[in-house]
Amino acid sequence: MQIFKTVESLNGYLDGCRERAQSVALVPTMGGLHEGHLSLINKAKECADVVVVSLFVNPTQFASGEDFEQYPQSPGEDIENLQQRQVDALFMPQIADIYPQSQESDYDVGELGQILCGISRPTHFKGVAQVVARFFDIVKPDIAVFGEKDYQQLTIIRELAKRKYNTIKIASVPIIREPDGLAMSTRNNYLSVKERARAPLFYKALREAREELESGADIALAAKRALAALSKSFVVDYVEILDANTLTEITHKSEEIIIISAVRLGGARLIDNIVFRRANV
Ligand code: AMP
Repeated sequence: MQIFKTVESLNGYLDGCRERAQSVALVPTMGGLHEGHLSLINKAKECADVVVVSLFVNPTQFASGEDFEQYPQSPGEDIENLQQRQVDALFMPQIADIYPQSQESDYDVGELGQILCGISRPTHFKGVAQVVARFFDIVKPDIAVFGEKDYQQLTIIRELAKRKYNTIKIASVPIIREPDGLAMSTRNNYLSVKERARAPLFYKALREAREELESGADIALAAKRALAALSKSFVVDYVEILDANTLTEITHKSEEIIIISAVRLGGARLIDNIVFRRANV
């Protein structure tokens, strides 16, 4: 695996790939890698000749007072993991390489950025769209791979690609979970032993909501029950049941449903979702 710390050196490498007519997949990450990230890499390897992983904790997606300074980083371990997975190139830029002028973002992510996580993190998705666009401009990948765990982010990136990068294919992978059901996340490191033991109740409550919906419960009632169940163990940011394609209210046209939620547990903010095809709902 080759490691690149500047845009210029990465571009030199990518020019060589293009001369050899190799397709390029990009997997953007903030490091602190776990099996969730590694499944994105497996998907990228299936889809392209060359896999570029980026490791960059993006300051513009954190609001002041959020965990930018404490975000768990383990570059040594990450490099070892990526080498083992035979990733071709690792891009580890500095903030000044990604934002040479200023960190100001004028990306308008529209209504999609204002709902769900956008309510408590109003500038977050603007920062995400900004950094993803920057990586797309630098790497110019044929395909970019994202996780369904960050479902709202994935929806926003699909929109961004449709509007501004329609040659880049966006691929996604399902949520990778711990054996007890907790969605893997770098931020799970913030949980104490006691909190970690309680954390699987998050996915359990979402599963129960799905079961209720599948056995005919009314959507509003299932959402209310999920909120009540989650509130016993967590501080609930939101839990909603929506059309999975549009993240808007379910209509008779909705084909897939998402139960999507964010909760706080101690110092950690956890997000999770379940997407399923509409049958009797
Ligand atoms: P992050 O490093 O947290 O910004 O995540 C980088 C990418 O990995 C994003 O596309 C995430 O959606 C994805 N990802 C993180 N955790 C998981 C998981 N448990 N399962 C699947 N994808 C994940």
